[in-house]
Amino acid sequence: MKTDVTTKTVKEISIDVEKCTGCRACEMACSAFHAKPRYSSINPARSRIRVVTDEINDEYVPVYAGNFTRSECDGRHFYQLNGKQYSECSFCRASCPSRDYFIEPDSGLPLKCDMCEDEPPLAEPLCVTVCEPGCLTYQARQVEANVDELEESAAMERGLESLVRQHGIDAVIDNLKRLSKGR
Ligand code: SF4
Ligand code: SF4
Ligand code: SF4
Repeated sequence: MKTDVTTKTVKEISIDVEKCTGCRACEMACSAFHAKPRYSSINPARSRIRVVTDEINDEYVPVYAGNFTRSECDGRHFYQLNGKQYSECSFCRASCPSRDYFIEPDSGLPLKCDMCEDEPPLAEPLCVTVCEPGCLTYQARQVEANVDELEESAAMERGLESLVRQHGIDAVIDNLKRLSKGR
């Protein structure tokens, strides 16, 4: 069977670790962007980007929040960087039960970078805009996409929006938390 193909926009952020100064402006901007109401508070614990910091060795590595995982890895790897050993967990993007990173402190829900989706869209993600040293750079490109998969994802989004309208965001969050614990 022939699959219908269209194009979609893929947003990418490149990280030049050499340029990171560890200023953490990206963390502050991200948390302000996702505050409710928007820009009403700054709390890096709510940020979807985290800067792994080793001030003694002047090393800073920004890490973006990725997918939620229900269980931690059974095995871990180690990285040796400039003579210092880091656990794989240091640079891992997952919202994982083994640590407090990328977990919303009030609700306990996982945090994931959403590329600052907004209506109207931002010219570029906010963490990129505030990164004065130029460690973060943004580009958007078009790629081929499966129409069925895009429609499925849009339908899921519409379903969630409808649930929030009917029952309120708090009830939906409570139910999602209950469901994720039971799985
Ligand atoms: S704003 Fe840029 S330079 Fe500052 S910590 Fe974040 S990534 Fe590093
Ligand atoms: S933080 Fe990442 S690497 Fe570490 S246990 Fe969790 S999923 Fe695995
Ligand atoms: S792209 Fe937006 S959501 Fe993702 S880390 Fe940067 S500021 Fe946060």
